[in-house]
Amino acid sequence: MNLSHELRLQAIIDGTRAGTWEWNVKTGEVIFNERWASMLGFTLEEIQPLSIETWNRLCHPDDLKQSYMLISQHLDNQVPFYECLCRVRRKDGSWCWIQDRGMLVKEPDGTPTDWMMGTHIDVSIEQESQQHFAHLAASVPGILFSFEMDSPVEFRFNYVSERSYAYFGLDCRAIEADASVLLDIIYPADFTDIKAALKTCYRSKSETSCQFRIAVDGAEQWFQAVARPIRDPFGKLVWHGMLTNIDDQKQLENTLAYLSVTDELTGLFNRRYLTRALGDSMKLYRRYKTPFSLISLDIDHFKRINDSYGHLVGDRVLSKIGKLMKNRLRVTDIVGRMGGEEFLVILPNTSEEEAIQIADNFRQVVNQTEFLNEDYIPFVVAVSGGVLEMTDDVTSVEDLLKRSDRLLYEAKESGRNMILNKQSHRKSQCR
Ligand code: GH3
Ligand code: MG
Ligand code: MG
Repeated sequence: MNLSHELRLQAIIDGTRAGTWEWNVKTGEVIFNERWASMLGFTLEEIQPLSIETWNRLCHPDDLKQSYMLISQHLDNQVPFYECLCRVRRKDGSWCWIQDRGMLVKEPDGTPTDWMMGTHIDVSIEQESQQHFAHLAASVPGILFSFEMDSPVEFRFNYVSERSYAYFGLDCRAIEADASVLLDIIYPADFTDIKAALKTCYRSKSETSCQFRIAVDGAEQWFQAVARPIRDPFGKLVWHGMLTNIDDQKQLENTLAYLSVTDELTGLFNRRYLTRALGDSMKLYRRYKTPFSLISLDIDHFKRINDSYGHLVGDRVLSKIGKLMKNRLRVTDIVGRMGGEEFLVILPNTSEEEAIQIADNFRQVVNQTEFLNEDYIPFVVAVSGGVLEMTDDVTSVEDLLKRSDRLLYEAKESGRNMILNKQSHRKSQCR
């Protein structure tokens, strides 16, 4: 096709739907094309006479300042091109986002002329959707992010929303540049979970979540990251997700978990926890032959204490005995109140002989401890107990508890304030 140079250039400009501008930096004279005017809702005729004042009047004052600053950088040869994003007033009063690009025109020998020429492209749709996204990112209760993975252990953030600063004082650009600034404030104890989640992310390529603690102003706070992979237009998987602070939820979970296994009066474990722990100990015994022993303790004539001194004094006896037990036992021992005035201790890796010693020692301590009634008058408390070691013939938790109850009953029958095991029980039967 034999088109003139001018015609081809015009066709290209029309095709790109660009507004064009030419500006004599000395005289202030300007030339805009018809598209430039129509982009803003005008005809060229409507905005005559044209001069640089036309632009100065329509461009947003803040952007105008920025634009002149960037132009002067270009005219001073600091940058090869001029480029600026500007808001420009439309005929109907609304703002149009314009991508403004241009450069100083030079003679073929490189001598600069007085003219700058460039284009204005309407980027309102892109800008508005970016603004919507930025507002959304600023208003969701969390930090939005997206990341790519090269392997189960290698990942990099390609986007982190600005709220990272409000959440833990980290600039989102710094996290995007190097994810380790975020890893540095995560509790090392939670790295294993994070690594496992990343592995799952990489392998399953499905939504994955992970909970971990982050140091915020020197205090640990629980966060949850949830991410889902989406294939980008080039076929690459990019994970998009949100990091939320779940500290309140975690505290509530911990409180509920604590309450569900704790006896309110004594602060010891409750029956629910004890029976579960007994089941676990039995599993370990069956699988690995890990021995354990059991002590059941019951306060003697507790009803009399209640009847003589009142329920409140009875309660205090229960908590005092609870404290005495907790202080005397090893951290690995599990101490709890089964209900009423009955306590249970699970002693891992402990033989029956050792358990009898522990139980009897405890019986003596209780018996020698001074308990006070409401009038500060001391009284004595005694406990009876049954001790047994786990054996192969025990069939279930219920069976185990039934056996220890039987020993306890026997101790009561034999006069109270004593600890019995199978042997001593038989001995007393033979007597
Ligand atoms: P024994 O020596 O045979 O064990 O007699 P006992 O009086 O200790 O046993 P009994 O089962 O006859 O009475 C237990 C009493 O414990 C009855 C009940 O009111 C009281 N009790 C149970 N739970 C609590 C509690 O939480 N606080 C108080 N103060 N008393 C309780
Ligand atoms: Mg009792
Ligand atoms: Mg009882």
